[in-house]
Amino acid sequence: MAKVAFIGLGVMGYPMAGHLRVKGGHEVTVYNRTGAKAQAWAAQFGGHAVATPREAALGQDMVFACVGNDDDLRQVTVGADGAFAGMAKGAIFVDHTTASADVARELHAAATAAGFGFIDAPVSGGQAGAENGVLTVMCGGDAAVYAKAEPVIAAFARACRLMGPSGAGQLTKMVNQICIGGLVQALSEGVHFAQKAGLDVEAVIEVISKGAAQSWQMENRYRTMNEGKFDFGFAVDWMRKDLSICLEEARRNGAQLPVTALVDQFYAEVQKLGGGRWDTSSLLARLK
Ligand code: NAP
Repeated sequence: MAKVAFIGLGVMGYPMAGHLRVKGGHEVTVYNRTGAKAQAWAAQFGGHAVATPREAALGQDMVFACVGNDDDLRQVTVGADGAFAGMAKGAIFVDHTTASADVARELHAAATAAGFGFIDAPVSGGQAGAENGVLTVMCGGDAAVYAKAEPVIAAFARACRLMGPSGAGQLTKMVNQICIGGLVQALSEGVHFAQKAGLDVEAVIEVISKGAAQSWQMENRYRTMNEGKFDFGFAVDWMRKDLSICLEEARRNGAQLPVTALVDQFYAEVQKLGGGRWDTSSLLARLK
């Protein structure tokens, strides 16, 4: 049992913090910018809700965060009343935000200078993965720090792995998003084509999902896509944030991402259609 804090009780953070309490049996303190959510969490799970990230970090063995983007992460760590000012020497900060590798390295350096550990640990598995405690966690940082963090992360993870030094977790998450982008566009084109061809889309997917075209996106999203429903998970606004991180990193490391760049523009069109909060399978909507 450890003393831990969780900063950012959104779609992902709220259930993840819950697993630390219920499955991990840890003593959990929570902070959320909108205080009512932290109060609700504390009432549901039995923990302490505090008013600033700094207060949340005081006296903890580990502090977790899952906020929006690089700037949000900087605010809750090194901003005014940020968590880093409250971290004890030897403690560990684990960041589950999908952010840039740069901000991970920057915060890792600041943490190391102040005498505590920092792991970048973005996740995959979506809202359902968070709620069911079966996320995949991709980590970057120092091996000795990671070894201490992993058993605590296990409360909400099915797989957790150290991918390399600081930033390697975020780089791995970029690979994940690159693999998803082009695939969802191809699935959208397949469903669109089947509809235009007058085929029974259910029957088509039933058959081809037994073969080489099978994917998580196909199995979990084809039915709602066929019904024109796009309210089932990871939002287009978040995906654009992630793809812009990938494209910026690729500009730096020289990787060629032509399809990812195109899909990013398709998502911009979905945003213009009013679909910023639709799920990522809404690439189909712009084909209609
Ligand atoms: P969300 O529901 O929008 O929650 C974001 C959380 O961050 C909220 O608690 C929000 O506080 C807090 N926050 C944002 N900016 C802040 C700031 N400047 N200062 C303090 N708190 C701030 O988002 P989410 O879906 O949980 O996603 C969180 C992260 O996980 C993102 O980086 C996302 O890309 C990543 N992720 C999401 C999924 C998914 O399926 N949703 C899957 C994998 C990875 P308030 O309550 O006050 O707004």
